[in-house]
Amino acid sequence: MSTPAPELMAQLRELLGEKGVREEPHPVWPNTVLKPETTEQVSALLKLCHDAGQAVIPWAGKTGLVDSLNDTCGELGLSLERMNAVEEIDELNRSCTVQAGCILQVAAEACAEKGLLLPLDLGARGSATVGGNVATNAGGNRVIRYGMMREMVLGLEVVLADGTVVSSLNKMLKNNTGYDLKQWFIGAEGTLGVITRVVVRLRPLPRSQNTALIACADFDSVTRLLGWLDANTAGTLSAFECMWPSFYNYVTREGSLHRPPLAQGYPYYVLVETLGSRPEEDLERFEQVLGDAFEQELIVDAVIAKSQAESHAIWEIRDDVLNFMAQGPAALFDVSITVDQMAAFIGEVEAFMNGIPDSYNVTFGHLGDSNLHLILGNTKADNFDKSAIENHVYALVEKYSGSVSAEHGIGLAKREHLDRSRSEEELQLMYAMKRMLDPKNILNPNKVFSADKVA
Ligand code: ZN
Repeated sequence: MSTPAPELMAQLRELLGEKGVREEPHPVWPNTVLKPETTEQVSALLKLCHDAGQAVIPWAGKTGLVDSLNDTCGELGLSLERMNAVEEIDELNRSCTVQAGCILQVAAEACAEKGLLLPLDLGARGSATVGGNVATNAGGNRVIRYGMMREMVLGLEVVLADGTVVSSLNKMLKNNTGYDLKQWFIGAEGTLGVITRVVVRLRPLPRSQNTALIACADFDSVTRLLGWLDANTAGTLSAFECMWPSFYNYVTREGSLHRPPLAQGYPYYVLVETLGSRPEEDLERFEQVLGDAFEQELIVDAVIAKSQAESHAIWEIRDDVLNFMAQGPAALFDVSITVDQMAAFIGEVEAFMNGIPDSYNVTFGHLGDSNLHLILGNTKADNFDKSAIENHVYALVEKYSGSVSAEHGIGLAKREHLDRSRSEEELQLMYAMKRMLDPKNILNPNKVFSADKVA
């Protein structure tokens, strides 16, 4: 691992000033972090680093889950935290232009004050940044309604590896003028360019929210319920979050923070939410559609939230995902499997885990998005073999033609499994793009794929 050349550091200090070059010691991330204030500074610092062959790791809210910020070859950190302004909320064109370091929740609250919705929502909203959300193509809780971050980006300003600024701050919904360049950078995890500004598409702020927790008797009912609700809630379905008993029973166990809104012991639990514009009609329809589902025996039990507080309490159960690790070390998975294959896939995972003494496994997911999260661990640390579990599960994902990453990205953590979900031709095209946009491999090298693939 090399350290940055003293001459380069002197040039960077002169360019960025005292506040712009910080020492922030950390065991796995770069210890020296650049903190530019303007796009011009990002451009100038990248030009210096490019000339010197010095690698950088763009970072944002540091809430990622795939080791994307780990130092692999003496990189400098590049934080846009000082570029955090909400520059414009355009009410007529329903767009919002923010600097990349703006915290997601800050941007969303500024939009809400104008009666507009910035639709991305996820647990890390208070520390994740909009630029980071774009670089990782974040998903979250309402993808079924609004899509992933990719679907909300209208325009981007990006600085390329050599310092070239590509300003593409488009606000129009339709723009078919050649290649859609912004898509190259969305989800690229900072390997193709540094995102400095984002134009986000906004929607009307919902005026009604209906939430229910539902119990189903079997997986077939869960999938049919998804189709039924999607078809009969007039386009308002915004979440369909499935929790297996391994999740629900643990989160609502005696002595936990949560009271179970439904009794334990059902085979499946589903959090359902609609967001609409006409509170009375929306509630009436919600109750009617759930009642019909009950009559069709898609549902065996349900509780509809009667207040904001009750809705919150149900969401808090779904969002309480960190407590599981208290049981012992675990491997976390974020995979996609088509809904028709999901039951068979989970059956194989459970059979594998049941063969390991003292193991525990937890399953939940954004079922409407074909996205499963698995927590597979062991209550005895000595019995825990992370790479054996990962190899087995990712081989199953490949067998079921799924994706090894649904919404968390590849980073360092999953790159050895990328070829399970991507063909050789797809990989070669990715390498070619990387070589073209970052010929010296200075932008987050070794993430998504290793440096030798593009040497
Ligand atoms: Zn998720």
